[in-house]
Amino acid sequence: MKTIVALPGEGIGIEVVDAACELMTAAGMPLKITTPPQRESAGTAPVPLPAETQRAARAADAVLFGAAGPSTTNVVSWLRWEMEAWGGVRPAKFYPGMRSPLADPAGIDMVLIRENSEGMYPGREGDIADLRKAMPDLRDRLGRSLEKYGEGRFAVKLVTKLGAERIARFAAELARKRKAQGHPGKVTCCTKSNVLRQSDALFHHTVEAVVAEYKDLTFEHFHVDDAARRLIRFPTQMDVVVGMNQYADILSDIAGEVAGGLGVAPSGNHGDDGWAYFESVHGSAPDIAGKGIANPTATILSCVLMLEHVGLATEAQRLEAALARVYADAKALTPDQGGTATTKQMGAAVLGAYRNQ
Ligand code: ATP
Repeated sequence: MKTIVALPGEGIGIEVVDAACELMTAAGMPLKITTPPQRESAGTAPVPLPAETQRAARAADAVLFGAAGPSTTNVVSWLRWEMEAWGGVRPAKFYPGMRSPLADPAGIDMVLIRENSEGMYPGREGDIADLRKAMPDLRDRLGRSLEKYGEGRFAVKLVTKLGAERIARFAAELARKRKAQGHPGKVTCCTKSNVLRQSDALFHHTVEAVVAEYKDLTFEHFHVDDAARRLIRFPTQMDVVVGMNQYADILSDIAGEVAGGLGVAPSGNHGDDGWAYFESVHGSAPDIAGKGIANPTATILSCVLMLEHVGLATEAQRLEAALARVYADAKALTPDQGGTATTKQMGAAVLGAYRNQ
């Protein structure tokens, strides 16, 4: 029996986590799912995640998170930053029947790897006047000081060799695992190292050096603006794509969209010692929250990643196959995929397909 802590977040997170947990329970998977409290007091003021929830989430085999919104930023901050879930895995795969905006999406099957702990996030910002005082000699590439700027704000981007090496190895190991399943065995790194010649270049060259140790893999690098274009124009040429925090955050939304939309984009976030949490890429979607029409696919696919992670590979494969069946049948799809089904109806259809295998 594996223990799962489910934290729905808010908005559609509540509906999709509910549907996914009901599905996994009704399918008879060997899981003990608990839902400890997300906050001690009502309201939207920032409060820490309750201590008992932190204990349960640390001890669980995995955590399933729904979607963050204004009153649950405490949950996602704890999961991502305090637990240092530095390795983000965001698959973007097209299943026939999905509503991709591309004319020919067949064969899209890539994984974006997002470095979650460094780069531009979590925000380190301030007043330009303070930066000017602290670093009077700071110059841009044209040799200009901060004197030319008036009032304004700055943000700090951090890259470390250790952080870049760690995510590069993570990406390379995944590319190797995928190669064994028939994928090309390629790591594509995306930076802006032509402009940011210290920070992005450190990331670029560190990833390149690490991937070079894997003789069975190939490496390529694109500047991030070019990469964004390629994800749309040549998505089937991508295998494992790795990027710094903010770049990969943006690129993974593009990749998710070309596969079938935000409603179908899952993620896993890995920390040290095998700890991980899983969540849809989408947010709380206030425009459709409470209507019961959110697509549960992103969360169900996050559960596929979670089941693999906790060692339930057979259940993971069956769940993915069941979801693919529902898309191929196109009878129980939510409105974002061109159907009329509710979240619960789509969940029930996946359960039916799971049982019928
Ligand atoms: P937040 O501020 O919490 O991130 P948001 O509305 O700005 O919320 P998302 O929740 O990521 O951003 O979603 C953007 C839009 O995509 C939503 O408004 C919704 O219309 C659509 N969307 C997102 N997730 C789903 C889903 N699971 N099913 C259907 N539509 C979705």
